[in-house]
Amino acid sequence: MPPESLTCKECKTTYPLDARYVCERCFGPLEVTYASATGVDAEELRRRIQAGPHSLWRYRDFLPVEAPPRGANLPAGWTPLLRADRLAERLGLRELWIKNDAANPTHSFKDRVVAVALARARELGFEVIACASTGNLANAVAAHAAAAGLESYVFIPADLEEPKILATGIYGTHLVAVNGNYDDVNRLCTEVAGERDWAFVNVNMRPYYAEGSKTIAYEIAEQLGWSVPDRIVAPIASGSLFTKVARGFEEWIELGLVKGAVPTMNGAQATGCSPVSAAFAAGQVVCRPVKPDTIAKSLAIGNPADGPYALELARRTGGGIDDVSDDEIRSGIKLLAETTGIFTETAGGVTTAVLAKLAARGDIDPNERVVAVITGEGLKTIDCARGTFETYAIEPSFDAFEAQVPGSVAV
Ligand SMILES: *Cc1c(COP(=O)(O)O)cnc(C)c1O
Ligand SMILES: [Zn+2]
Repeated sequence: MPPESLTCKECKTTYPLDARYVCERCFGPLEVTYASATGVDAEELRRRIQAGPHSLWRYRDFLPVEAPPRGANLPAGWTPLLRADRLAERLGLRELWIKNDAANPTHSFKDRVVAVALARARELGFEVIACASTGNLANAVAAHAAAAGLESYVFIPADLEEPKILATGIYGTHLVAVNGNYDDVNRLCTEVAGERDWAFVNVNMRPYYAEGSKTIAYEIAEQLGWSVPDRIVAPIASGSLFTKVARGFEEWIELGLVKGAVPTMNGAQATGCSPVSAAFAAGQVVCRPVKPDTIAKSLAIGNPADGPYALELARRTGGGIDDVSDDEIRSGIKLLAETTGIFTETAGGVTTAVLAKLAARGDIDPNERVVAVITGEGLKTIDCARGTFETYAIEPSFDAFEAQVPGSVAV
């Protein structure tokens, strides 16, 4: 299945595998297409994968690079898939799994997409790496550029959460804080990409970047013993992760590596930035851009590039796209933490809250095998934890402890 070309998703015009992202004929987005695999021995392929490294490079046969980077020392992927029985019980489900992508080197799923885009950028001879970020991409680009010894430029909205800014600047990147929202940053970066010979991971390298998200599906399938779950709940910002996870399952089903159908796909957005969820509810096939206003800053893309494809996917698989309020996001973060021990950032709160909403609405058959994709780490949006619990402030005496801390009286 070697990568063959870049292909326009709309008019199917093909281009060589270089740094481009938009069709010259119809301005449609480009994606990587692969030579069709004939006569694949599924058993042999499974063995080859299992013998690979404990990182996303075990799936190198399905990624758009000539070879995995030598000496890649910030291994992305191969994150835990954890069975969440106590959360399942709370929600009235039987089999629920959490794919914990906070367990990546810079604590979000963005390490996957950056690892692939950067590897391809190096093959194409780029010496400077850049990105337009909603937060986590900034962390990942700065870190992976540092690991590879490359110069980097990271563009962020100036009002990003402070932990994400600090965890980016520390890597010695050129950090550019733009007075505007993500959509302004993205517009600026598109312009800069036209003027500088830089690899913008999510602009001119976007087709390669997007392929990195497929590895979430490969890992879930492998970790479930080479099988496909019934339903996936995952967050949507641009819609790249959501659509590429489904593509990952699709590819493996076609190759005969796993049996079954593409899971029912449920997308999760914050109400304060819900262009895809709104279009889904209204029965539309395209999204109307919005001005984001939500605590889920990592999902705050008002004009999502893959919105129409996310809508089509949710409808085709019998899933949906829902949104949740900032209060529901905070409750989602707390619910996941209390029942699984996983502290996630706001995007994970969005996913958990949408999962809870689907369960409460009776949309999920109790016998389904469900996987929720948790994409980032709670310490990066630590402010959300404030005010969600009580502290017993006491004097350092046993009497004070006994008097003030409930349930501490001896029985
Ligand atoms: C970037 C991001 C996403 C999803 O982004 P897409 O643009 O939809 O691929 C989800 N969660 C977190 C934490 C992210 O940083
Ligand atoms: Zn085209």
